[in-house]
Amino acid sequence: MSEFPTGSVWLVGAGPGDPDLLTRKAERLIGKATVIFYDALVGPDVLGFASSGARLVHVGKRAGRHSKDQKTIDSLIVEAALSGERVIRLKGGDPAIFGRVTEELEACRHAGVHVQICPGITAASAAAASLGASLTLRGMARKLTFVTAHARVGEALDLDWDRLSDPDATLAIYMGKSAAGEIASRLIEAGMPGDMPAALVENASLPDERTFVTRLDLLPISAMTALGDGPAIILVGHAVSGNAAPATARAVAGRCCASEVTSAP
Ligand code: SAH
Repeated sequence: MSEFPTGSVWLVGAGPGDPDLLTRKAERLIGKATVIFYDALVGPDVLGFASSGARLVHVGKRAGRHSKDQKTIDSLIVEAALSGERVIRLKGGDPAIFGRVTEELEACRHAGVHVQICPGITAASAAAASLGASLTLRGMARKLTFVTAHARVGEALDLDWDRLSDPDATLAIYMGKSAAGEIASRLIEAGMPGDMPAALVENASLPDERTFVTRLDLLPISAMTALGDGPAIILVGHAVSGNAAPATARAVAGRCCASEVTSAP
C-alpha cells in the first residue's frame, strides 16, 4: 500500500512554527494531501508545502476565539476521507501532546478510515533549544513533566501541585501564560523554592520569538512582559537556566525586572 492512499488520514505534527523543524515525512505528506485541516498554531510557512490544488481549511482555535468544535472537526476529517480525499489534519508541535488526537483517531477508526500519526517537534523541545538549555539534567532533573494549565474561564486550575513541585523534575507547562501568577504561587506554596529557574518562551522557533529566563517567584512578571498574543510555554526546573546566569531576575531599587535573554529585533 502506498504511504498515503486516497481515502486515508494522516494526523501530522507541524512542529513549533519554523518550517525547517518539520520532519521530512511531514513535508512529503503535506505535499501529497488533497485537503488539509489546520490549526491556528501551524506556522504559516508550513502550509507552503501543500500542493497548489490542495484545499486548505482553517479549523484552528486560540484561547477565547471562535473555532470549530472537536466533533465538527472529527466529522469533517471523516467525511473528506470517505469521499476519497487524501486528508491531513495538521497540528502545531506534536499531534499527540495536548492535541486532541484520541478523538480524531477514534472517529476515523469508527468510520473504518485508515489513520496514522506523523510526530512533530513539540513546543517544549523547541523552547529548550531556543534557551540553549536541556530539558533534563544529570542528577538534578531526572524527570520531565508535560502539563497543561488550560482551565475553563473563571475556574481555578485543577492540578496536583504537590507532585508538580518536585524539585528533581523539569516542568513544561503548556497553555500557561495567562495563569503564570497562579502557577508560580501554587508551586511555591507546595514547597518549590522561589528561586527555582523558570523560563518563558513565546513563539518558539519563529522570527518573533522571545525568551525570558527568570526565577519562579518572578515568573509572573515575565509573563506580563511577554505581551504578544503568540503561544508561550513555561519551563521550570534546575535544567532550564541554559546559558543565562541562573536566577537572572533582579530586584533593582525595589523594582523587579525579569531579564529578557533574547528578543527578535
Ligand atoms: N501539540 C502542541 C501543543 C498544543 S497546546 C505541541 O506539541 O507543541 C498549545 C500550547 O502549546 C500553547 O498554548 C503553548 O503553550 C504551546 N506552544 C505551541 N507552539 C508554541 C511555540 N511556537 N512557542 C511556544 N509555545 C508554543
